Amino acid sequence: MTTPYNDSLSLADLEQRQDFIRRHIGPNEAQTQAMLQELGVESVDALVDEIVPSDIRLANLPAIEESKTEVQALADLRAVASLNQVNDSYIGLGYYGTLTPNVILRNVLENPGWYTAYTPYQPEIAQGRLEALLNFQQMCIDLTGLELASASLLDEGTAAAEAMALAKRVSKNKKSNLFFISSDVYPQTIDVVKQRAEMFGFDIVIAPADDVVEHDVFGALLQYPSATGEVRDIEHLIAKVHEKKGIVAVAADIMSLVLLKAPGELGADAVIGSSQRFGVPMGYGGPHAAFFTTSEKYKRSLPGRIIGVSKDTRDNPALRMAMQTREQHIRREKANSNICTAQVLLANMASFYAVYHGPKGLKVIAERIHRFADILAHAANFKGLTPLHGQFFDTVTFNLSSEKKAEIVARALAKGVNFRTDVENQISISVDETTNRAKLITLFDILFGEDHNLDIELLDAELRVLGSSSIPASLVRESDILTHPVFNSYHSETEMLRYIKKLENKDLALNHSMISLGSCTMKLNATAQMIPVSWPEFANMHPFAPVDQAQGYKQMIDELGEALIELTGYDNISMQPNSGAQGEYAGLIAIHKYHESRGDGHRNICLIPASAHGTNPASAMMVGMKVVVVDCDKEGNVDMDDLRSKASELADNLSCIMITYPSTHGVYETTIAEICNIIHQHGGQVYLDGANMNAQVGLTSPGYIGADVSHLNLHKTFAIPHGGGGPGMGPIGVKAHLAPFLPDHALVNVSESTQGNGAVSAAPYGSAGILCISYLYIALLGRKGVTDASKYAITNANYLAKKLSQHYPILYAGKNGRVAHECIVDLRPLKASSGITEVDIAKRLNDYGFHAPTMSFPVAGTFMIEPTESESKVELDRFIEAMVSIRDEVRKVESGEWPSDDNPLHNAPHTMADITAPWDRAYSIQEAVFPVPAAAANKFWPTVNRIDDVYGDRNLICSCPPLSVYQD
Ligand SMILES: *Cc1c(COP(=O)(O)O)cnc(C)c1O
Repeated sequence: MTTPYNDSLSLADLEQRQDFIRRHIGPNEAQTQAMLQELGVESVDALVDEIVPSDIRLANLPAIEESKTEVQALADLRAVASLNQVNDSYIGLGYYGTLTPNVILRNVLENPGWYTAYTPYQPEIAQGRLEALLNFQQMCIDLTGLELASASLLDEGTAAAEAMALAKRVSKNKKSNLFFISSDVYPQTIDVVKQRAEMFGFDIVIAPADDVVEHDVFGALLQYPSATGEVRDIEHLIAKVHEKKGIVAVAADIMSLVLLKAPGELGADAVIGSSQRFGVPMGYGGPHAAFFTTSEKYKRSLPGRIIGVSKDTRDNPALRMAMQTREQHIRREKANSNICTAQVLLANMASFYAVYHGPKGLKVIAERIHRFADILAHAANFKGLTPLHGQFFDTVTFNLSSEKKAEIVARALAKGVNFRTDVENQISISVDETTNRAKLITLFDILFGEDHNLDIELLDAELRVLGSSSIPASLVRESDILTHPVFNSYHSETEMLRYIKKLENKDLALNHSMISLGSCTMKLNATAQMIPVSWPEFANMHPFAPVDQAQGYKQMIDELGEALIELTGYDNISMQPNSGAQGEYAGLIAIHKYHESRGDGHRNICLIPASAHGTNPASAMMVGMKVVVVDCDKEGNVDMDDLRSKASELADNLSCIMITYPSTHGVYETTIAEICNIIHQHGGQVYLDGANMNAQVGLTSPGYIGADVSHLNLHKTFAIPHGGGGPGMGPIGVKAHLAPFLPDHALVNVSESTQGNGAVSAAPYGSAGILCISYLYIALLGRKGVTDASKYAITNANYLAKKLSQHYPILYAGKNGRVAHECIVDLRPLKASSGITEVDIAKRLNDYGFHAPTMSFPVAGTFMIEPTESESKVELDRFIEAMVSIRDEVRKVESGEWPSDDNPLHNAPHTMADITAPWDRAYSIQEAVFPVPAAAANKFWPTVNRIDDVYGDRNLICSCPPLSVYQD
């Protein structure tokens, strides 16, 4: 008799086979066996034993929970989320309720075509997000009234700090070391800027804006409208600072700028702020895109990336990241800033919000917000409660006795409403896009008691008859905004949907093929992990909401923190830094403060191996450290003799080493424990750059190795998607002795032991809204799964290295010929033999449907390839096939069969424009666009030909191209 139960699996077996681990890990059992055979080892464990040095190998699986199914993990997190009580927030201070258009929510924020892409370093396959970012820049330029915009910074606080750094670089008042901060700047911004000033060694004064005229400053920061909501003319103050050759940065509210005169028109040199309220949920503090605009003459000093217009080989306009030579990965300690991961996905959301609403729609939204504030103030005046300021945009502030304040706040809380309450005897109420009549009545009930008898219609009519002067006539915007066609074409949902899709189609993301960018860990960003990002319990929480309302967040953050502490071997963690580079900055501050606390404040030397990522020296510079480079030997390892001699020579002033493990050369240096010892012996601290945690989790850990502090790129190892260049999260783990020096926050008590330390981000837990992704990554994989992930990352990388080594030299390997979780393929010999460059090969991979690996980092003329555990053998083989086929193509150039300037590598990538034009090349159309069957079966068409970088930098255009381009 046959039964459906004849395969002898128990119920437990059946259940176990539903786990998520095998969904996350690409290779199945048969594929794994085939790869192991190729590698000549018995098992994955045997391979890992060969590779990870035994003296740093952990004996047991990490003490975190077992894996859960998707259904269970989501249900459990739902229960945690429900502990959040989401009040109507009127707290303001840079975070506002906003209505994310659903067409943007689903087709951008929740769409892997947008969220899994990488920073657009390969512009030919990134024209979609480059266009969205160019729109973002144009929007910022129009609203702020300046000429040049960056394509997003991490948050408003750090953007303000970057503005201070820009002021110092460009101010002609060279003898001044003083930076002025108006006391009506948001408190969390002041906190971040103060910390940065202390590290740079700038003096600061915080005083009412009018006092700026009394100081001889290199720069000043003003807020417009002010933290308490006042809209006032700052033109004369800016002029006064200019008289003394100082630079003025204005922190501005993006929505208010729709109605207000642009700060650029008032004379500001730089304008910064957050684009959050353009359709990006608050997320308990982030992620959101900050904006930064400045004048053309400071283009070389602008922090962050700029998208520029260039042209391709067919002379068609094409977008790219401009002036990359300003970036940290090239200029290292001389870079403008350490920013690497930014906030691309959120900048794109904000730009789509502007595209969808257009100038007229935005004006309606801004006017409606302002009208609600006007009616609120009018009602208050009528009721004898006079607002502090007569002129405002969306924020009405009241000074009150402490009894009255307590009474109102209690009534507000009882009705599920939060006001800004951190200033003594004062409340502020910021209305926003989500405010409506019913909510306004609730505000009346709270402020004036339920028998207030106020009628919104009547108040509105009165205002319109009497006229409102709540925005001073001199500050009413007269200039147009968003006149470009892109902001005036897509206002129906059908048009918008197609515009978003049109751009998405131009970009290669993980939903098309593997992106093997070394050091970036482009692994699966599982759908289940993404879903809670848009749950209202997480999405709509204000970062400064009373902590008793944010218990769900607290539990999630605490549990994630505990798991990360276990996985890193540290004692404590700070969730505040919102990128890896910010983590470096925070970690180096902790080291500096630790030394200072022991009377060793003079220790300022930071040793950095030559192979380090550019953010390391750039961060060291930001905390005033002096970078000393340590050599690497021929095998790519730290030169131990050089390290020993420099550590002992500089021992008196040695602050720390910054070291990446496994190294950026893709090997587990066996000397790592010794390196830690040497540094410690000479009084230094060890900063272990955690970008390569994907080769450590469950196998070893920075704490176990002997390091003192590390950042984790949650957007690499812990599955937060890269978003096309952000968001990210860079929490830092520390040993106990550094814990007292972790970041604090001006408005939220993040820990009893860190009070007064200053902040590195505007929000207490950075971009808290995406922590649920890493939380679920760990919950879904559990202790075995996270460890398997490391093991399979190593297995996949070694399989790839082995297969490719038959065609290309692999640059570095460990003693036994194995690599870690990534490998470097040397392309320099090909250049010598054929003239074909690494750039040609990178672009040629596009024709095969692949994103290029990391190019020329850490070694010029090479690819660094990191497949991650999430790629199956099928996909690895497809990539290998492409690389082997490319090697054969190079051979035809070497042999002279194809001329050096007429071959598919030199002309890559190929577009539809190429194959529809008259074809007179030395190779066929078939060879150009369908070089292997797999490329034809799932063809990716780059939408532009090779882009001219030099032309774009010489003719910098970073706003949307003028109408004439559309008219030809
Ligand atoms: C990615 C990376 C960083 C920087 O991290 P961001 O999150 O991009 O700021 C630092 N070091 C290494 C080795 C990296 O790969």
